[in-house]
Amino acid sequence: MRKCSLNSIDKVFEVISQSAKLYLPVDSENGASYKLWESGAIMSNALNTVRSPKDFFFPQTENLMEFKTSGKLIEVIDNREEKEDFVIFGVRACDVKSFEVLDRVFLNDITDTFYGNRRQHGVIISMACTRPVETCFCQTFDIDATNPEGDITCWKTENSIYFRANTDKGESLLAKLDSVTEEADDTQVKMQQEKTAEIMNRLPLADLKADAFGGGKTKQFFNHPAWAELSEACLGCGTCTFVCPTCQCYDIKDFKTNDGVIRFRCWDSCMYSEFTKMAHGNNRITQLERFRQRFMHKLVYYPENNDGLFSCVGCGRCLSKCPISMNIVKVMKKIGGNANE
Ligand code: SF4
Ligand code: SF4
Repeated sequence: MRKCSLNSIDKVFEVISQSAKLYLPVDSENGASYKLWESGAIMSNALNTVRSPKDFFFPQTENLMEFKTSGKLIEVIDNREEKEDFVIFGVRACDVKSFEVLDRVFLNDITDTFYGNRRQHGVIISMACTRPVETCFCQTFDIDATNPEGDITCWKTENSIYFRANTDKGESLLAKLDSVTEEADDTQVKMQQEKTAEIMNRLPLADLKADAFGGGKTKQFFNHPAWAELSEACLGCGTCTFVCPTCQCYDIKDFKTNDGVIRFRCWDSCMYSEFTKMAHGNNRITQLERFRQRFMHKLVYYPENNDGLFSCVGCGRCLSKCPISMNIVKVMKKIGGNANE
């Protein structure tokens, strides 16, 4: 384990940025967001960035290919390009776990090369939580906020930042920081982990369990009468899906230019009335069906196809951002029964 004093963290950032683009969360009037590091940037103490770091691997829009026309000829242009190395600093445990959820979608039997290339070039430096808040419930999904995964894990104590490499990528980056860090034992880290765990255990959602959900529960929950009441006020705004680190639905569209077409993809939302609309019309014609799809996917369909892994990481973003205060916790409590109260 290595450490540096908090006062000298800028030196660490400087060394990292000599070999890769470095992004870290900084505060703005709209909340914390990841920004390219520049000298003097102050790392945010916020627990969550407003938008999750999934943007680094699965951006909101991206061009996939182009077609140029000339008379009767059509030229197909592959505009994929090798990405540059980059480092994301300060990713919380829940958000690190969300990358596993996305990997199982984009790096499955068929690899999404756009996503895969970014994953190869990205190094994740996580940050253990010290002040979890009332919307946090990562422990419902067995995520340890005091010991996040990632290529390197960091712990911030009163005066220092501690670093532990977890992967080859992490080892290689940490080796570059030898001149600006020093060897350290984990005494302070363990003390901080204990304090954070105590806070976690006192949070209002500390006892929320996901045991009632998982693969094979479609019949049990699909026609549950509570969907009508839960979905009644939903505006279909899609905010919950856009802030969610694990939502990964997208649309592919063609944009006509003067001499051809640009094919691009952009995030979509199962909460939208035109989501997956086909020539015959829409397959989910009511907001109840769309609302149910979002939560059944996270709590039943996804774990059914992914060895029991849920596609919620308990980050709490949908709890704080939904304009009608609807969220996955309310759904779990209502349809999951008393075990989840
Ligand atoms: S943020 Fe709330 S209102 Fe908007 S789509 Fe999601 S559940 Fe519905
Ligand atoms: S469903 Fe809500 S709490 Fe779960 S990962 Fe998505 S935004 Fe976070």
